[in-house]
Amino acid sequence: MNKTIILDKRPVGKPQSTDFKFIDSEIPEAAANEIILKATYVSVDPYLRGRMSDAKSYSAPFELQKPISSGVVAEVTVSNNAAFRKGDFVSGLLEWKEYQKSNGQGLLKIDPSKAPLSAYLGILGMTGLTAYLGLSEIGKPKAGETLVVSGAAGAVGSVVGQIGKILGCRVVGIAGTDEKAALLKTRYGFDAAINYNTTADMKQAIAEACPDGVDVYFDNVGGEITDGVLANINKFARLIICGSISVYNETTVPMGPRVETVLIKNSALMQGFIVANYAAKFPEAMAKLSEWLQAGKLTYSETITEGFDQIPQAFIGLFEGKNNGKMIVKI
Ligand code: NAP
Repeated sequence: MNKTIILDKRPVGKPQSTDFKFIDSEIPEAAANEIILKATYVSVDPYLRGRMSDAKSYSAPFELQKPISSGVVAEVTVSNNAAFRKGDFVSGLLEWKEYQKSNGQGLLKIDPSKAPLSAYLGILGMTGLTAYLGLSEIGKPKAGETLVVSGAAGAVGSVVGQIGKILGCRVVGIAGTDEKAALLKTRYGFDAAINYNTTADMKQAIAEACPDGVDVYFDNVGGEITDGVLANINKFARLIICGSISVYNETTVPMGPRVETVLIKNSALMQGFIVANYAAKFPEAMAKLSEWLQAGKLTYSETITEGFDQIPQAFIGLFEGKNNGKMIVKI
């Protein structure tokens, strides 16, 4: 049988395993021009939480009782399409199904001899592109500037910090445990790290970690952490609003300090970022990430859980800080 995960209920607050349902169906057959794909690695991502709600956003909500989709690496097991051969690996936005059929549109052929297959969901996939493009297109960091990254030990944040170091910045990361804070310095080369769970005064902690103030802030988290960073920004600071995971599960969005006067006083730029808007720059970004990886300037971590049945739990784990680097499920 072929397992599929559907959205059974829209989560209220933190997602629960009961919001998801497993259903069985037959393995599909390929018609003319179609291929059959067997899922190999499934990406779970915080942004999926937004698609599980029916609020207006930049991508359409998932429909109830329909399969959830995310980034997936899959193997072609049957091909009636001249562009694909049995044994090819592809990545694309696919459904949470063990087996599914496709006409090949939107799929990218990937080469397992160039990088491990899972890397195409992280460092060479959506999160790597987000780190590179968010930082370069909005942050525009210059050597000698101070870059602060929230969600720093995650898939996006860990890459942002390393790129900041490559570009010559002083880099300060914020993460949720002492172990993650230590990893930021030892594994990724950050200059300083803050554990927000043991920090009573984030404004003070940022001031101490950033004696010259904050020039670029790459925000994955929002909320009180961002309030503390904002209180330390420099003139002409650039704030990349990439994610806001600290409020994704709130039923009413909490109010923080008003940001307008801080932005005016510092002539600062605060801009929302969605990676899909920069698709034209994906090849350039991918080439740069690959070059730095091959040169050993960039490293990455993955938290890989095994088994199709583990997908909902891995997704929920993102909101509990269970991952170091990219959270992935191996099927
Ligand atoms: P990730 O950082 O690998 O995983 C999520 C991490 O968020 C967790 O490991 C946890 O780390 C932290 N977290 C969870 N709840 C938190 C809370 N209440 N307060 C502070 N931190 C919390 O995920 P990712 O894929 O790299 O994504 C990072 C952010 O970027 C997300 O907000 C995501 O939505 C966003 N994003 C945006 C785009 C875009 O195009 N705009 C693209 C990709 C990702 P700790 O242990 O440190 O708490």
